[in-house]
Amino acid sequence: MTIANNLAAIRERMARAARRAGRDPEDIALMAVTKTQPAGRIIEAYAAGHRLFGENRVQEFAEKCGALAELRDAGFHMIGHLQSNKAAKAAEIFHAVDSLDSAKLAERLNAAAERAGKTLDVLIEINSGGEAAKSGVAPDAAELEKILAAAPEWSQLRIRGLMTVPPFTDDPEGARPYFRQLRELRERLAGRKLPSVSLGVLSMGMSHDFEVAIEEGSTCVRVGTAIFGERVTG
Ligand SMILES: *Cc1c(COP(=O)(O)O)cnc(C)c1O
Repeated sequence: MTIANNLAAIRERMARAARRAGRDPEDIALMAVTKTQPAGRIIEAYAAGHRLFGENRVQEFAEKCGALAELRDAGFHMIGHLQSNKAAKAAEIFHAVDSLDSAKLAERLNAAAERAGKTLDVLIEINSGGEAAKSGVAPDAAELEKILAAAPEWSQLRIRGLMTVPPFTDDPEGARPYFRQLRELRERLAGRKLPSVSLGVLSMGMSHDFEVAIEEGSTCVRVGTAIFGERVTG
């Protein structure tokens, strides 16, 4: 199967899941996750009409992005854990950061975006399963309140929603409660009408559970292996 075939097949499955849930398929974006994929595979997806991409490591994308400079209307989002000391580089090479998990990181990103003369869209990553090994802020953490309260100070950041990577379960249904919790958290926060915080985006769902995520309200699914095949690592 080619990348173009796989993209079309995923879109079809996304549309079916949306219709099952009484949703408009147009309201759900497909992000192609290209970590470990060489630039050539990204260009292939672009040639097939794809424009939204996710990468999870600053260094890896820094090495690839020169080869992608001609894909001017493509959007590249940072979706992996971002250390504060890499914030400046990330603000320079990415269009958006979907894994904001601390006020300190937001400070750094804001300052770097200001120096680069750009505005960054950001999502707050929620550690919905409370797993120690996962990044993201806990839904009830003081850090989340800190980020929300300080948002008006970060003139170069636009907080646009929430992102999560739930605990892995073989059965995609296992992720459903976490997806639902993220949607409910978004609704609660949106109800508070916080200044400088908009919460339209719910980034949730990956190759093995994106249909469940769509049924639970996802507006952006992040799909890697189902488009590009198994990742070659090491
Ligand atoms: C790798 C990754 C994905 C995509 O995972 P697949 O199972 O390959 O679809 C999605 N989100 C994040 C944050 C990732 O790191």
